[in-house]
Amino acid sequence: MEQIISAGLAELGLMGRIPADAPTRLARYGQLLLEKNQVMNLTAIRDPEGVARLHMLDCAALLKFCDFEHKTLLDVGTGAGFPGMVLNLLTPSLKVTLLDSLNKRLDWLSAVSEELDGAQTVSTAHGRAEEWALKKSYRDSFDLVTARAVADLRILCELCLPFVKAGGQFLAMKSTGSGQELTAAAHAIKLLGGRVSAVEDYTIPGTEITHRVILIEKIAPTLKGYPRRWVKIQKEPL
Ligand code: SAM
Repeated sequence: MEQIISAGLAELGLMGRIPADAPTRLARYGQLLLEKNQVMNLTAIRDPEGVARLHMLDCAALLKFCDFEHKTLLDVGTGAGFPGMVLNLLTPSLKVTLLDSLNKRLDWLSAVSEELDGAQTVSTAHGRAEEWALKKSYRDSFDLVTARAVADLRILCELCLPFVKAGGQFLAMKSTGSGQELTAAAHAIKLLGGRVSAVEDYTIPGTEITHRVILIEKIAPTLKGYPRRWVKIQKEPL
């Protein structure tokens, strides 16, 4: 796994910008993921090459489009740590909070970060995003918010944009077929104080898979009343 990750990071042009031991640490994370996946449902990808490319390198590609150094980041619906944990291993000065409604995955991630996160810059938050976003210390507070494979963009914006501070960014990891989703989310983005600053496509090294990151800048604080309760968010997306 380490070799694939190392070559992929070089292909993404990231080698000069990340710690020298990042490929080793990412490979160890991948190994721990595959081991735990035997007894806990963490990922549908079960082979080391797939983990290296479709998890590690897919998430690492975000470094091409955003500066993560010395920032705070909330990863909403982190699951087994994607992309938040990968971004932290590549950028140790990045303070990451991994948020998910499933506690057992977070317990596992805490153990992983204890082993891998030398700088101790990873913490976890258990619960639903729409509830955490109402807490004063979380609302309009993070430099960056990320989400991969969590929800349709309209819904995702209501879950994620409230956490971003004015001047910060929400990075939504999507497929290249997300054009319609983005069009449909225009109203939600505007209402929640966001503005699309870039849409970037990238090919995962060693594959023919092209993914997309939609970068949404927060230009105004979140309006009172958002996010709404989950039933409402789902029934009547913005
Ligand atoms: N981001 C990871 C990835 O790309 O591998 C996990 C994706 S998994 C398909 C979606 C995750 O989002 C699950 O772990 C689920 O528990 C979490 N999730 C979904 N809705 C959520 C919400 N409203 N608040 C917190 N977590 C949520």
